[in-house]
Amino acid sequence: MNLHEYQAKDLFRRYGIPVPAGQVAASADEAAAAARALGGSVWVVKAQVHAGGRGKAGGVRLARDVEAVRSAAAGMLGTNLVTAQTSAAGLPVSRVYVESGSDIARELYLSLTLNRERGRIALIASASGGMDIEEVAHKTPERILSINIHPAAGLEPYQARELAFGLGLSGALVVQFQSLAAALYRLYTDKDLSLVEVNPLIVTAGGALVALDAKINVDANALFRQGDLAALRDTSQEDPMERRASEHDLNYVSLDGDIACMVNGAGLAMATMDLIKLHKGRPANFLDVGGGATAERVTAAFELILSNPKVRAVLVNIFGGIVRCDLIADGVINAVQKVGVKVPVVVRLEGTNAEAARAKLAGSGLTITAAAGLTDAARKVVALAAKGRAP
Ligand code: GDP
Ligand code: MN
Repeated sequence: MNLHEYQAKDLFRRYGIPVPAGQVAASADEAAAAARALGGSVWVVKAQVHAGGRGKAGGVRLARDVEAVRSAAAGMLGTNLVTAQTSAAGLPVSRVYVESGSDIARELYLSLTLNRERGRIALIASASGGMDIEEVAHKTPERILSINIHPAAGLEPYQARELAFGLGLSGALVVQFQSLAAALYRLYTDKDLSLVEVNPLIVTAGGALVALDAKINVDANALFRQGDLAALRDTSQEDPMERRASEHDLNYVSLDGDIACMVNGAGLAMATMDLIKLHKGRPANFLDVGGGATAERVTAAFELILSNPKVRAVLVNIFGGIVRCDLIADGVINAVQKVGVKVPVVVRLEGTNAEAARAKLAGSGLTITAAAGLTDAARKVVALAAKGRAP
């Protein structure tokens, strides 16, 4: 689960990580009042959306008087901001963050995330921070420094110093970096984060380290014990299909193809998407209805994948181990009767009660293409989707 920048910076403040003074605003008037309250003569108005790349997309504006703050806020609020990290529809801006302007001498990059290969939390840093960090990582990966943190020892001072030297910091800045990195690590572990990213971490003209941007992702599996963070969820920033799926406890991820998939088990779902790709089709989603799927859940799942207007064909691929295939068939029939289905459906069912399931589907009056095996299912659904696309 992502947090907004202003929420992440509140957490930073509580952990003693230096951030500019700022206030969140939901209207242009509130933004102007925030600028007056903050004082000074330069402000930055920042669109609050769950995506980076705002700077290059007009979502971060410098303002030199209160009226400029007001008009920058008015220009962002109520619009959808499209950045390199959002879909073409963008994300709605319902709040802006008004911050005191900073005088930037250097822009660094700093983040903490889990290195899954090593099974350790990694502290990652670069002297080339700022809006082009993706390009730096791509073209000059040697400019990205990384250390892995031992879970028992925690972040050791020598490791932080090593990174500080690697960033070209010296003197008092090394000491500041050490305590900032330690505080970030404490925040990361206390709050069950899966990512905390500061880009840019700036060195100000006055020689201080300040977190100018803040991105936090909380491990959704830990939200049950992070009640204060769970309360910060902003569903307006989430994919509406994924939001509906989470209400039904379905593991669903939107993709941009046109073949909807309903599969039980994450491994089989991955294999199903691979097969579709192998046969030159494009999955519209990942969907794992789970091992213990009930007819109600299957109905909800089927309704969900059918509500995607891009879908040209559906593939149901179920291996009945714990789940009974006849229950899946009931769910599919219920859903189709409830919402109707205008696209071809290919079904591959194997395992517990598969025979009964096939009989139910055959007797339902629905036009369903039965498949014998995975490859056959993939071939058939790809061909049907291609036919649906043809004018
Ligand atoms: P992102 O593009 O979504 O990652 O948004 P950031 O918060 O990182 O802002 C993008 C860029 O705006 C930063 O890399 C800075 O160069 C610039 N910026 C942000 N705040 C200030 C500020 O207070 N003063 C100045 N001069 N530039 C700023
Ligand atoms: Mn940034």
